[in-house]
Amino acid sequence: MKSDIEISRDAKLMPVTELADQLGLQTEHVEPYGHYKAKISLAAGKDLAHKPDGRMVLVTATTPTPFGEGKTVNTIGITMGLNKIGRNAISCIRQPSMGPVFGIKGGAAGGGYAQVVPMEDFNLHLTGDIHAITSAHNLGSAALDTRVFHEEREGYEAFEQRTGLKALRIDPARIVWRRVVDHNDRALRQITVGQKTCGASTNENGIPRPEGFDITVASELMAILALATSLQDMRARFGKVIMAYNHDGEPVTAEDLQVAGAMAAIMKEAIKPTLMQNLEGGACFVHAGPFANIAHGNSSIVADQLALKLADYVVTEAGFGSDMGLEKYCNIKVRAGGKSPDVVALVCSLRGLKSHSGDFQVVAGRKLDRGMIDPNLPALEKGISNLRFHINNVKKYGLPCVVAINRFPEDTLDELGWLLEKAKELGADGAAISEGFAHGGEGCMAVANEIERVCNAQKPYFQYLYNCEDTITTKLNDLVVKGYGGSKVVISEQAKAQIAELEAKGYDHLPVCMAKTQLSISHDPNLKGEPTGFEVPVREVRLSAGAGFVYALCGSVMTMPGLGSLPGYMQIDIDEDGNIINLS
Ligand code: ADP
Ligand code: MG
Repeated sequence: MKSDIEISRDAKLMPVTELADQLGLQTEHVEPYGHYKAKISLAAGKDLAHKPDGRMVLVTATTPTPFGEGKTVNTIGITMGLNKIGRNAISCIRQPSMGPVFGIKGGAAGGGYAQVVPMEDFNLHLTGDIHAITSAHNLGSAALDTRVFHEEREGYEAFEQRTGLKALRIDPARIVWRRVVDHNDRALRQITVGQKTCGASTNENGIPRPEGFDITVASELMAILALATSLQDMRARFGKVIMAYNHDGEPVTAEDLQVAGAMAAIMKEAIKPTLMQNLEGGACFVHAGPFANIAHGNSSIVADQLALKLADYVVTEAGFGSDMGLEKYCNIKVRAGGKSPDVVALVCSLRGLKSHSGDFQVVAGRKLDRGMIDPNLPALEKGISNLRFHINNVKKYGLPCVVAINRFPEDTLDELGWLLEKAKELGADGAAISEGFAHGGEGCMAVANEIERVCNAQKPYFQYLYNCEDTITTKLNDLVVKGYGGSKVVISEQAKAQIAELEAKGYDHLPVCMAKTQLSISHDPNLKGEPTGFEVPVREVRLSAGAGFVYALCGSVMTMPGLGSLPGYMQIDIDEDGNIINLS
């Protein structure tokens, strides 16, 4: 089989203007960036407001290995499959960060014959949204450091008299807005800013203080882009972002710094979703890509809103397993105005479930153990508990569940047949083998048919997992007990104090976002299958006031990844015609 980039390059693409035309978009709302990408203005949605919404298909997975279970492949594949059976379907997916693209994970445009194309555009800059976030975010940092510099140098009173501004009296020790860059660059995790220029007699560079960089997709602005329901909503949320605390412990926001408007101005194009196509000429909106641990891990509400007006089915991917992205979709994105799912496609694979036997060490960047690839019914039987958890988890939200078994080349029909039966036995409302990677839409027709059958037969009775009006501690405990099947949450002294502070400041009625490992249903990556009886330790609690959630850190969460000794970028090059080689 050809490589992903070869398949992408050999594809015959349709001009994006033609695709937009087929979708019924008015020319004035389509802003092409080259031939195969276009930003779609949000005004398009207003023109379509009278149309009913299509159905929302949420793609999630069992607890993944570091290699991924095939959610993106299936999101694109199922969209193609629905189109093949005569339905009008659009995918809505996240834009990937360039960090992992040049690191080890590679691209995120799907794979094989289920890809968004051109994949190199998708995986690199696309239409520049991530750059805009970097710039808007760092403008906030510059505003913050500048304000501290001037107020401290001049003294608060003199500053107020000269500028007519109210001194913000920012405590330099309580600056919480770190800078961002869209690369895996561990050297920037902990730095010092504001150091005096060597040889200078005075320090004109600010106040020396510890600082650090996160990867851009970890920025709260990225979470806001994904959760905003309009340009005005994005602007208002930027204003609420907390950047520091003053000497009285009161929050200092982007609005206080009078920088929120300019940050929103930088992002006026980034709020528009990007339209691309899949290998079979179907449509795909690519928009936003927040982390799935410290943020909610789903693409944007505005892209969904647009797609729902244009299609019978919108197929969207939620990051990691159903305990992560789907939980956050339901408890955070739906509360912010996202459409609750009509059906869930739960992706799993033989190899992924075998990894839940606990018999194998799966390490990113290393080859998979043959015991997971070759037939191995004992391992599959041991690991099936993970699928049981995720089917039941989907049902907690009142949603119908179709299991999509992602077929890899070495998978045998015997084991696939066994898993198909098992999925139904475990309570899935539908199940089918999915061969989007090898056969595109045709390989996903069975899943598409199951999705439609289940949608017609069953109305979802969507419900949230926890009540937002409860205390932060109760919500976290509900998440652990009802959400993960653990015994309780254990909150550190530090986190208790932080919760008390949040409650005193009136931030207690926000949804909670658990930043835990994606490699286990629990907080411990070594607990495979369907662990029970575990206690989840919450070390720290932080606030994303603009995005509108409180997030809890279970261990150390990496917000600036590093590169290994053989990173992906070493293979990547361009040929003399400007084609990118070896992007995978
Ligand atoms: P996820 O979205 O769940 O992280 P992806 O869809 O990105 O997973 O797939 C992870 C990796 O596995 C990608 O490189 C993809 O091309 C590959 N992959 C997924 N499904 C298959 C399959 N059925 N056969 C071969 N490779 C696959
Ligand atoms: Mg994915």
